Amino acid sequence: MFLHVPGGSSVCIHAVATAPQFQRRGIALSLLKEYLTRLERDGTVERVLLICHEDLVSLYEKAGFELVGRSSVVHGAREWFEMRRILRSSTQASVPSIPQNVLAAALSVRPNAHPRATLLPSVAGVNELVIEADGDRINKYPIVCVQDGCGGLILQAKTARLRQAPSVQLEPPMHPPPAKLPPLPPLGESASWWLVSPSPMIFDNIAFSRPLPTPQPNALEPRIKLLACAICDLGPIGWSLEGGSEFWVYCGRVGYQM
Ligand SMILES: [Zn+2]
Repeated sequence: MFLHVPGGSSVCIHAVATAPQFQRRGIALSLLKEYLTRLERDGTVERVLLICHEDLVSLYEKAGFELVGRSSVVHGAREWFEMRRILRSSTQASVPSIPQNVLAAALSVRPNAHPRATLLPSVAGVNELVIEADGDRINKYPIVCVQDGCGGLILQAKTARLRQAPSVQLEPPMHPPPAKLPPLPPLGESASWWLVSPSPMIFDNIAFSRPLPTPQPNALEPRIKLLACAICDLGPIGWSLEGGSEFWVYCGRVGYQM
């Protein structure tokens, strides 16, 4: 969000302003829609990102943006919210093991292929991947995608905390993960996770599925979103709750750039 990257795949909108005498006529919404149409037609930009105050969330939703969650940005007294819009021209591919229609959103993408990315051989090895900092155990190495030819940087070193937490069912029943990804421990057993919090902007690249349907359609609990590599779509590698501020990446489904 801070640097201009020539030829980058993300556009960040910093301000949409209408002169006071022309407000409340739908001009901002029309401007936004026209701008998004032009970006889509151009075809080189994959996503549009912004932060706004709560009272403007509905305006951006009308323009097709989705609410990502609270932003970690502190500027002034009021809280900021992250929003994003994935452009149609970028949603051709699908995430393996996730239903075809559940693509995916991505934040800043910085491809960083690295041939030495290795999958964690066993959960026992996880202690070699952490360093102590502020009484916590954090990732010593950059965390990368394990797809052959991708190796995309998912998390910089020292951005995620190691946690032992119950295993989660990331694949639909009877649906094995992609060959590159090992299965998780059975439900209820402990698993090793990288906890990323409080914002998805901490990731260098990550894609989210749409929220998965809950067993009871009207259930009040938040729905699960699956995480995948935003560059090659390899996933699921983890999960988060819709609107949540915690992002859980399974230690065994990512590589480490040692
Ligand atoms: Zn990848």
